[in-house]
Amino acid sequence: MGDPSLAWAQTALAVLVGLAVGSFLNVVVYRLPRMLERRWAQECAAFAADGIGSRSPAEVEAIDKTVGAAAAVTQAEAGADAHAATSPVDAGAEDPPYNLMRPGSSCPSCGHAIRWQHNVPVLGWLWLRGRCADCQARISPRYPLVELATGALFGLVAWRWGLTGPGLAWAAFGATLLALALIDWDTTLLPDDLTLPLVWGGLLASAQGWTGTDLPTALWGAVGGYLFLWTVYQAFRLFTGKEGMGYGDFKLLAALGAWFGWPALIPLVLISSLLGAVAGGLMKVTIGLVEGKYVQYGPWLAAAGFVAMAAGPDRLGRAMGLG
Ligand SMILES: [Zn+2]
Repeated sequence: MGDPSLAWAQTALAVLVGLAVGSFLNVVVYRLPRMLERRWAQECAAFAADGIGSRSPAEVEAIDKTVGAAAAVTQAEAGADAHAATSPVDAGAEDPPYNLMRPGSSCPSCGHAIRWQHNVPVLGWLWLRGRCADCQARISPRYPLVELATGALFGLVAWRWGLTGPGLAWAAFGATLLALALIDWDTTLLPDDLTLPLVWGGLLASAQGWTGTDLPTALWGAVGGYLFLWTVYQAFRLFTGKEGMGYGDFKLLAALGAWFGWPALIPLVLISSLLGAVAGGLMKVTIGLVEGKYVQYGPWLAAAGFVAMAAGPDRLGRAMGLG
């Protein structure tokens, strides 16, 4: 990029695309856990239905309630979404679709469809002063903040890499990582639908020479990342009888290993542990986090991923004298 005005134009374009992608990420963060919950409820219902045939309607209803209650345990916020399946009866095949595209966005409080002009990233929220146009319910400032963060991310990536293969790869990496951090924060889930593509994406980007990490280094990063946390998890469970992490955390570190290479694994674990410990301490002071309560590890792993990306994708391992 020799021409500075071209660099500015590319960056401005990337910011606009980032704002729109951020708006989509808000939908992903809100809906993906609920889509998974619906899928699990349907599977439970199908499993229960196998043995139902001869049961009375009252018995069937009792089973429905049990399965529905199990599904509700994973609900992010109680009563937050009128569309989420709370009973497998609602999750039947003739149900209206619930996915990332449909139905259109609606207010979680009153269910009114959101008008297109209020759906414009950041500006819509500012125009409404953070309240629903129909019922005046408060709309979280997190929505415009996620849009702004994604816009900034895409802008910085375009400034550094331009509109190139590496630029596209790192923008996709950052957007996926942000969605994972927020979903884990809200629900303690790290969906395979995001972690696994992030692993494959890292390996493919490495094969293309877009990440500055050669393919064997990336492959061992993915394998080593998964095995490292798996080993920690098993040891922790053996000695304390508790589960300190989930399998999603192993897959997330595998993904980071694929993007940054195996030499970056130990720095990534150190940075994320440090961030998690500091944040956990702060939460204990500020919001009175209960002693021994589970704090998700995923958001801090994701944060370490952003640190590694900002430092320079191949810098972390080199700082360790490795790679
Ligand atoms: Zn409303």
